[in-house]
Amino acid sequence: MNKVWVVRKKQRRQHSWVFSNEIKQVEYNPELGDAVLVYDRDKFIGSGIYNPRSLIAVRLYSAQEKELDKSFFVEQIKKAIDYRKTVLPEEIDYRMVYGESDGLPGVAIDRFHSSFALQTFSSAMDKRQDIIISALQEILAVDCVVEKNDFRLRDAEGLARRESLLFGTGRQVLISENKVKYLVDLMQGQKTGFYYDQRVTRARVRALSKDKDVLDVFCYTGGFAINAALAQARSVIAIDASEPAIMLARQNAELNSVAHKIQFEIGDAFKVLRDYHRQQRKFDLINLDPPPFFKSQKEKKQGLRGYKDINLQAMRLLKDGGILVSSTCSHYLFWQDLFDVLSQAAQSVDKTFKIIDRTTQGPDHPVLLSMPESEYLRCYFLEVH
Ligand code: SAH
Repeated sequence: MNKVWVVRKKQRRQHSWVFSNEIKQVEYNPELGDAVLVYDRDKFIGSGIYNPRSLIAVRLYSAQEKELDKSFFVEQIKKAIDYRKTVLPEEIDYRMVYGESDGLPGVAIDRFHSSFALQTFSSAMDKRQDIIISALQEILAVDCVVEKNDFRLRDAEGLARRESLLFGTGRQVLISENKVKYLVDLMQGQKTGFYYDQRVTRARVRALSKDKDVLDVFCYTGGFAINAALAQARSVIAIDASEPAIMLARQNAELNSVAHKIQFEIGDAFKVLRDYHRQQRKFDLINLDPPPFFKSQKEKKQGLRGYKDINLQAMRLLKDGGILVSSTCSHYLFWQDLFDVLSQAAQSVDKTFKIIDRTTQGPDHPVLLSMPESEYLRCYFLEVH
């Protein structure tokens, strides 16, 4: 195999990525997407995939010398499934592969019963889509595989954005999470079709919703609203800007026999929340689960303003003793940033809050200690004090 010599700083030695400026020497001219053996000074550190065009020049996939062949994918996917059997024993629908955290850098696979949504973030994995599909078929019954590769991270790897059906047929699939049923639209849905990362937060919201007037902002296909309704909330309103998302949310509410309890609204959350304030409407529990308002360090300042604004709008609508559940999925928005945004928003509305809980992405999105970037979802539960 090709060899790459690198020199890494002490604090980066365990990280799964090698940056291009850490590379000292490359032997035998590996090409884009090739597997390489990586040495830190003279010490062998593992096998990785190579991209000479990307800032992330090598992504390590094993501490051993391993070919990136079908048997490797079979082994890793089996491990990933076994891990989820342990941490989510009741579930069969989940994020089945979460990149580096499952030893498959640059690959995400969401499992929707026997349909699968595949995302590839690196050239090496992009080239090996067929091997990944055939590994899946060796392990599980596979009805359908869709490629959901329409996201910005692909640009940095020099990969085109695309979405397509790679295998089988089928558009809508039925899944369950925490015993709640959802239809997932494989081709038209946002991201991979469903946001499995909020599994834990949804369960927490459900536990807090009984007898409450609940507002679910950025509801997508209804995850939080349906949980609140199932928990006997007094009333539930759910808002999203996307009409197809709201249509599916309504179907999902029907599937779970709570359609009569939820009022769905299509609209811009920033505007709707301002209108509600003017109308002096109040809620006991408000869930905010916005899309990322920024995707790079450069956009951070502007993005933080968006978070402050939407949180401030929500805080104004809370009754005494009300609860705000505030999430962010922006990679570069860290816990301290969210804390600061929430404190500033609270000051602006002249309210004080206590933090009653914090949640993050569920155990099907495990975070690597050696790779802080693998944590991206952060959520505070605040109660008006
Ligand atoms: N809470 C959802 C996931 C939310 S994803 C769940 O549990 O599944 C973010 C959602 O915000 C998307 O559905 C998107 O359509 C919606 N959105 C984006 N900008 C918006 C805006 N300005 N107003 C309302 N909704 C918006």
